Amino acid sequence: MSRASRRRPYSEQRPQDLGGGVWSVPVPIPGNPLGYTLVYAVESPQGPVLVDAGWNHPDAWEALSGGLAALGFDVGAVKGVVVTHFHPDHAGLAGQVRERSGAWVAMHEADAALVRLMHDHPADDQRSFQAEMLRRAGADPGEVRQAVSRPAPPARPDRELRDGDLVDLPGRKLRAVHTPGHTPGHICLHLEDADRLFTGDHVLPDITPHIGIYPYDRDDVDPLGDFLDSLDRVGELGSLDALPAHEWIFPDVAARAAEIRHHHEEKLVRLRALLARRPHPQTIWEVAAMMTWNRPWADLSPMLRGMAAGEAAAHLRALEARGEVRRVPGVDLVRFQALDS
Ligand SMILES: [Zn+2]
Repeated sequence: MSRASRRRPYSEQRPQDLGGGVWSVPVPIPGNPLGYTLVYAVESPQGPVLVDAGWNHPDAWEALSGGLAALGFDVGAVKGVVVTHFHPDHAGLAGQVRERSGAWVAMHEADAALVRLMHDHPADDQRSFQAEMLRRAGADPGEVRQAVSRPAPPARPDRELRDGDLVDLPGRKLRAVHTPGHTPGHICLHLEDADRLFTGDHVLPDITPHIGIYPYDRDDVDPLGDFLDSLDRVGELGSLDALPAHEWIFPDVAARAAEIRHHHEEKLVRLRALLARRPHPQTIWEVAAMMTWNRPWADLSPMLRGMAAGEAAAHLRALEARGEVRRVPGVDLVRFQALDS
């Protein structure tokens, strides 16, 4: 059976008792092909703790509070929300759960810093930041003008986690495993008393998470390199059952982590070969346009092109960190060139 055949729309998802004091509640992401976020509830004597909360939308709130009620929980009794990363389909509703229940909201300190940054910068700042980033990457002027702003930032967390910290969950052992890559502060959560790993977006059964660099021409970070290390990190935990934030629950997280690593290593090899065939250094935009995406470049919307460029930039940066390509800084644009191996 092909894995893709396991994909089911949100309408076919139901809240589930997964046994061992763990439940899942599908929460829709309106207008997004991913369909839904799987929010998990973990039992504790002081009330359930949620892993992620879902997108901030009235339908999503209805699904979350109604789904918890169907499982016998009152959303007002939630003790805490630990978010795997700051993205809106994970952290979006955390603030509303806190308002209703007085729960604490926890996330990794690196993502907490990003949330603070988002609160400190108005939407207009963000638009000009994006336009400038697109311009330096070599995007067409038309695409630069279409730079869009992001959704409202998530609620500020009350608690910050670091790698190895135990989440405040009396009677159980839920440990934060820092897995940077998809975001700098992404965490997986290891339920050590049950050999289960909440993987957030880090390891999903069929798709792979977006790994990008923003702004595209940063050379002080290496998110793809971090992500590959984080896959190894999760692999070292062994063949735990994976409870991901999207798609479906699956066994043996280590095997899937190895598969995703292989996928990116192949993509890096192909990208280096593409660059080696070009006589001149290429802009990030040119590189993104020649890479393979799930649709032809010409058919990608401005937003998807922007994400593809972020992904191209992350792969270029990883190759640069390995000494396989070099960046050629220009007055206004940065370009990349393969180095002889
Ligand atoms: Zn995400």
